[in-house]
Amino acid sequence: MAFELPDLPYAKDALAPHMSAETMELHHDKHHAAYVNKANELVSGSPLEGKPLEAVIQESWKNPELGGLFNQAAQHWNHSFYWTSMSPNGGGDIPGNLEARLRDDFGSLDAFKEAFVQAGVTQFGSGWAWLVVDNGKLAVTKTSNAENPLVHGQTPLMVCDVWEHAYYVDYRNRRPDFLKTWIDSLVNWEFAAANLDKA
Ligand code: FE
Repeated sequence: MAFELPDLPYAKDALAPHMSAETMELHHDKHHAAYVNKANELVSGSPLEGKPLEAVIQESWKNPELGGLFNQAAQHWNHSFYWTSMSPNGGGDIPGNLEARLRDDFGSLDAFKEAFVQAGVTQFGSGWAWLVVDNGKLAVTKTSNAENPLVHGQTPLMVCDVWEHAYYVDYRNRRPDFLKTWIDSLVNWEFAAANLDKA
């Protein structure tokens, strides 16, 4: 059972003007597709061949000899989660259950947004900014390269890609502007709230 590139859940130009069709084309059709192809190549003939994606991620994380496979498999998972973390109707009102938890665990919505943007801005080099459930509380985390919260026993609710390929076409070097726009106008709160309900 080979890993497959998922279709985007919206048209390539649906996130414009905040994220261009050009970015989506490069990011989904080229970068994500390459992670899927490479993951299939590396899993084939490995001890993890045929296992579900999450199991491949968990087990290759613990085995330094499978570090190359971890990177490709986790990047496939992270990008699949990223596409659904955004919506053409992004930002705006937060479903009540999630909004209440954000206020409880961060003090205010502004404090949460500030923490999220800061995590993305201060992730040195390539990586990801996440909203997760960690030991029953909402938390903001950042990870390097392909690393993700699954390997730390946390439940991810949504993620922003802060690799340069995610924003360079539209924002050039202005990663802080990308993150502020992302949390105000692109984040899919319904997806995050649904993940919280399942957590
Ligand atoms: Fe990416």
